[in-house]
Amino acid sequence: MVQKVILFFIICSVCLLSSCVSKEMKEVGGMAHGNHDLKPKVNTVPEARFPLDTSWKTEYLLEIKGESPFLEKRTVVSMQKWRDEIIEFSKTQETVFINGPNKKQVALTFDDGPDSTVTSAVIGVLDQYGVKGNFFFLGSEAQRHPMVVKEAYEKGHLVLSHSYHHVQLDKLGEAEIRNEIKQAGAVIEAIIGKEPALVRTPYGSTNELVADVAKENNYSIILWSIDSLDWAQKNTDVIYSNVVKNIRNGDIILMHADSDEYDTYEALPSIIEELQGLGYEIVDLETLLGVPAYQENQKS
Ligand SMILES: [Zn+2]
Repeated sequence: MVQKVILFFIICSVCLLSSCVSKEMKEVGGMAHGNHDLKPKVNTVPEARFPLDTSWKTEYLLEIKGESPFLEKRTVVSMQKWRDEIIEFSKTQETVFINGPNKKQVALTFDDGPDSTVTSAVIGVLDQYGVKGNFFFLGSEAQRHPMVVKEAYEKGHLVLSHSYHHVQLDKLGEAEIRNEIKQAGAVIEAIIGKEPALVRTPYGSTNELVADVAKENNYSIILWSIDSLDWAQKNTDVIYSNVVKNIRNGDIILMHADSDEYDTYEALPSIIEELQGLGYEIVDLETLLGVPAYQENQKS
């Protein structure tokens, strides 16, 4: 009997631990997979269907900022490794963006929605301050909450893609990567009449094959230069500090707007006020980067 009780506790502890780990891996930027493979997997790079003036990318590439006292040391090390690798990778990719040009403009981005509460609340705050947000919605969740997708679009925010299932695209084959991108695009198009042309790969996991498949389908990949680390803890002060103390021209700021992220919603008004007080214009990604947010034939 005693052995059975001990066994039960061991099993419960393992389950609890693994559920914590999976939560922590939410948007870690590569730390979900220690052995990050950024090596080329295909030999032919297709031509982009739209000409982009990305010459500024080679002149102005920011380090990725954001830290938290709540992260374990090994997590911080793994995250930093990913940050260094992805910056090097973005130098080789015309359509993979870490930040925008050296102007006094920044973009607020929100991943993992839509949900039934926090996404709309975040939209409400953005509208209150008259600023545009960028929502990287999951195809699976967009299907469940189409009215929230519509609300974001109708209020002038960008409705973008975070793939369909929130899986690591760099672990998939070419056809599966294409399905993740195109399936999410089709769901969003069915709701707002436009297919996005910007995708944020889940966990920031990106390699040359992912970048090539995205490019073939006329998508640019948008990563981030500031991680608010709102996925790592429930602490509005850390979220606020990560954004306002690290802010630079052209920053793309990673936050989340799903039901786990009430703290992000709470930190948002002070973040917007501080950024505006510092003279930054908060813009959408199309304005920041000069790339189309939606597929070319669907431009307004
Ligand atoms: Zn995500």
